[in-house]
Amino acid sequence: MAGRRLARFFAPFERRLWPNAPVVLMYHRVALLPHDPWNLAVEPWTFAEQIEALKSVREVVPLGELVARMKRPKSPQRPLAAVTFDDGYQDVFMSARPVLHRQDCPATVFLTTAMIGSERNFWWDELARIVLGAPRLPPSISQDPDPEPQARKRMCFRLRRKLRHLAPAEIARRLDVLSGEAGVDRIAPEKDRAMTAEQVGRLSDGLVTIGAHTLNHPSLPHLSPIERQAEIGQSRRACEAYAGGPVEHFAYPFGYFDGASVHAVRRAGFASASTTAPSVVRPGADPLRLPRLAPGRRDGEALLKMLAGG
Ligand SMILES: [Zn+2]
Repeated sequence: MAGRRLARFFAPFERRLWPNAPVVLMYHRVALLPHDPWNLAVEPWTFAEQIEALKSVREVVPLGELVARMKRPKSPQRPLAAVTFDDGYQDVFMSARPVLHRQDCPATVFLTTAMIGSERNFWWDELARIVLGAPRLPPSISQDPDPEPQARKRMCFRLRRKLRHLAPAEIARRLDVLSGEAGVDRIAPEKDRAMTAEQVGRLSDGLVTIGAHTLNHPSLPHLSPIERQAEIGQSRRACEAYAGGPVEHFAYPFGYFDGASVHAVRRAGFASASTTAPSVVRPGADPLRLPRLAPGRRDGEALLKMLAGG
């Protein structure tokens, strides 16, 4: 997508243009992974270093406070930042939460509620487990049963691109077929799963807040209006049951949204919705199209450079 590439190109310049603009950081997993084809994980010690660096230059506030202060901007002593996690991986509870507590750093975790307590991987991880790990790939996806690792990785990306616009039930059906053909276990290793219901029940604790990320992580623009509203509204209700109170923040799965998705999120009553557009929160930004910056595996010093537009 040319628009996104352009946004990436301009991101460092606009950070220099608005050095005091709030930033929302986006994370997915805090874990040391042998394979991370989707680039979702940061190691726990690097994450701790990033949070320490972030807190040294920014006032880290809950996402709700950052959004509220967008409407009445006054020069804070230090520019604002909020920390967010997408999807609801178990390692966020196990490895990120203790760091957040040690460093007194608020954060919001966006949950894909139908995956809570599931023994399966998120579908993109199941896909990677099959394509990267199966000793012999089935002819339905590869003429060569045992391609070299780089070819397997390319295949992963190609298949993910094909799958992610499909309906969640169709993705599940195709992965069922694929894992059966490849002889790969459908049960995910525990460390790679979404949080359990028990963990989600303990997640919302004043410092960490729960946000919604749909039921099944579909691409919202590809759904019918009824499906879209159900994915958004039902995940909100599920999150509220876990949080024991209102849930006001949402993140678009894959960062995909269109006018209809924004409308559906507004109708569901959310105060903010996060995208994956790599940008600072410019003056006058729409809280239902919040951009976010991804720190990746940068060390503390590199994170500070990124925040300064370097
Ligand atoms: Zn997601």
